[in-house]
Amino acid sequence: MSSMTFDVLTLFPEQIERNVKESITGRALAKGIINLKTVNMRDFCGNTYGKVDDTVYGGGTGLLITARSVYDSWRSLFEKEEDRPYTVYVSPKGSVLDQKKAIELSRKKEVCIICGHYEGIDSRAVDLICDEEISIGDYVLTGGELAACVIIDSVSRMIEGVLPNEDAFTNESHMDGVLESPQYTMPSTWKDLEVPPVLLSGNDAAIEDHRRTASLVETWVKRPDMLDKLEISETAWQKMLAMRRSL
Ligand code: SAM
Repeated sequence: MSSMTFDVLTLFPEQIERNVKESITGRALAKGIINLKTVNMRDFCGNTYGKVDDTVYGGGTGLLITARSVYDSWRSLFEKEEDRPYTVYVSPKGSVLDQKKAIELSRKKEVCIICGHYEGIDSRAVDLICDEEISIGDYVLTGGELAACVIIDSVSRMIEGVLPNEDAFTNESHMDGVLESPQYTMPSTWKDLEVPPVLLSGNDAAIEDHRRTASLVETWVKRPDMLDKLEISETAWQKMLAMRRSL
């Protein structure tokens, strides 16, 4: 079984470690399916008092993490240039993370994630070492640590051996450009609300057909923008209309 390594350059290594060591990613770490290496950029600030940041040229509020702290932390990860990890700066300026990007990252052997803080990091470090910038949404966080944890979590669950089988992550929202159909568990009636009878029928083909239509209807209702990107047959539309009318 192959494994994947996440390197995280951060000023708050415990925040990353605490999060990744929990639950499913924690078990994957214990089994060696994923590896986590955190580097505290303060250790590479180049001065004895641990100052990693400085004021912004041209003025403005806040401090920037120096290019040197970022570069030297990154360079501590490998000896030969050809061993450099794929490097991502988490930033509100990046392209927004989606399932396609998570799948792409899950195919890499090693990914280094750089977390900014304060005003961010000196742009020269981004230009020199980053392969891409990834945002987790169009809003601004105080630091990149939560974004790094989101990337590690969404990527890890698609690495072989992390979940019980491939079905556990392929039959999920966003994998095929649609949302997952509504799911139910015991009891079949709760507060007078019933589970669709077909799901209790034991008829695999009918269940599969229901789920495909319910998944399209769920997407139509909750994320109509996603539906615009799909090619839907006339028969599928008829089934969707009938199901939506019955809701
Ligand atoms: N001055 C930056 C700007 O306006 O683009 C924002 C800096 S933010 C306060 C500090 C750090 O949080 C960033 O360097 C980045 O690493 C992280 N961050 C903030 N928002 C993010 C987002 N939406 N996605 C990923 N990382 C984010």
